[in-house]
Amino acid sequence: MRQQFVFKSSKLDDLNNQLIFFFEAIYFQSLTADVAWNDNFIHYKLKPIYDKCTKLRTLLKAVHSNFVLSSSNNKLKVYNAALNSSNIEAICNTTINSLNKKDLSQNVGNAIHDLYKYMYYQLPQTKIFKSIYGELIDHYKALKNATRIKMCPFCGLEPIKPLKSKVKQTYDHYLALSEYPFHGICTKNYVPTCRTCNEDYKHSKDSHYLNPQRTIRRKLFYPYGTYNYQVTLNLLNISLDNTNLKINNCNVSVNCSDSTLQNEVNSWIDIYEINTRYKNIIEDDSDNWYVEFFDFLTLKVNDGTYVSTPLTYNDYLDSLSVQESTNNSFLKKSYFENIRPLTTVFN
Ligand SMILES: [Zn+2]
Repeated sequence: MRQQFVFKSSKLDDLNNQLIFFFEAIYFQSLTADVAWNDNFIHYKLKPIYDKCTKLRTLLKAVHSNFVLSSSNNKLKVYNAALNSSNIEAICNTTINSLNKKDLSQNVGNAIHDLYKYMYYQLPQTKIFKSIYGELIDHYKALKNATRIKMCPFCGLEPIKPLKSKVKQTYDHYLALSEYPFHGICTKNYVPTCRTCNEDYKHSKDSHYLNPQRTIRRKLFYPYGTYNYQVTLNLLNISLDNTNLKINNCNVSVNCSDSTLQNEVNSWIDIYEINTRYKNIIEDDSDNWYVEFFDFLTLKVNDGTYVSTPLTYNDYLDSLSVQESTNNSFLKKSYFENIRPLTTVFN
């Protein structure tokens, strides 16, 4: 990914701890002969919502009733998955594994998925939830304020909602809720992401594994990690139209300044189809970028003709650097740097 957010603690973090409490309670009950529902499974902080919200009560009880009927191996998996649910960083760097819904008995997996889905999508819209946790948009604003990221952190191509927007940017569940439900309400798994990345490219792709058999793990960038790297683009096999400096065809290769992050970079490129998306834009827009460059170097005078300004190619590239994250500047910059050796125009 291109940028990471700074994690901001919020009241919402608590909600996941309350579910961990619930899973611990039902797991420890399962070590006894008792199988009855008990309101003491509910953390005192979740109690006000639990008391008011019939749907939540139903879903929690459905998890419990399916859980008590499942195998002890299944129960242990659920317990460990709940304990690991907020450790997104260790999952991203493959130190620990996350539990896929498919690795549980179907009834338990579905009941748990339904619970988290409800708690993420519907519960925040209830009055009781809002009275305790506020609006989700406040969570987004705190994140946005802390990091000042303006563009989608994955593609860098689309802006994310400004600080004063009345609607929040859509969050991607970095580990997909449909596959890895235990991270469904973990705030470290929420990443403000553009719709194109989220819905058209990542969707519910299994970011955990390289292969459909789910045997080879892959490293992922942790969206709240503190890395220090820059990505640059190399354009290879360029077919350039010399009349308007349009790139008709090229291949894009992403370089990361920190080679120890190559696995994370590869996962990012693969999941979000980064190279193809950048290539498509470069091939579509590069002739316009050359026109913009020409406009930068010339000035229209009163009689309608153009005169040269003292500005140079390097001035233009500098002007792109200062606006690195907006207006596809990083793509333009790599376009100019990569075609410079192929033409005499910039000499
Ligand atoms: Zn994006």
